[in-house]
Amino acid sequence: MYDCEICGKKTESLYIIDVEGAELTTCKICAEGKNVIEVMDEHTTHKEHQKKKHEEVKAETTEVIDNYGEVIRTAREKIGVPVKVLAEMINEKESMLNRIEHQKLLPSDKVIEKLEKNLGIKLKTSVVEKSNKGSKDPDSTITLGDAAGFKK
Ligand SMILES: [Zn+2]
Repeated sequence: MYDCEICGKKTESLYIIDVEGAELTTCKICAEGKNVIEVMDEHTTHKEHQKKKHEEVKAETTEVIDNYGEVIRTAREKIGVPVKVLAEMINEKESMLNRIEHQKLLPSDKVIEKLEKNLGIKLKTSVVEKSNKGSKDPDSTITLGDAAGFKK
């Protein structure tokens, strides 16, 4: 609730009006026909609340993508190496990698990191994509499509 500077009444919708160069905060009735600079009402307040909620979502952590096995396998086939070789590349067991590719095993953060680096893929996803952009190392932003250009 605000106090109108003209009539003194309580008002929910606050109008900032220009009266001969002076700014007055008034109720809707007093603002009628005047030069309104800004309106602060419940709608504005509501918007601010929504904004805050959105920022909270932005802080959420990353998650492993749903089809990680498929992404790993596709990327591995693109660079033309068998599971055994990829396992050697990242210094992990072939059997473990096989299970990951068949989505029978969720790779650990350490393994994810190595796979992402070696295959040029992204195995993690987050709601915060935008805020992360540019802050991480360039490798993590490479998409599966870009991985095709990795053959050298
Ligand atoms: Zn008033």
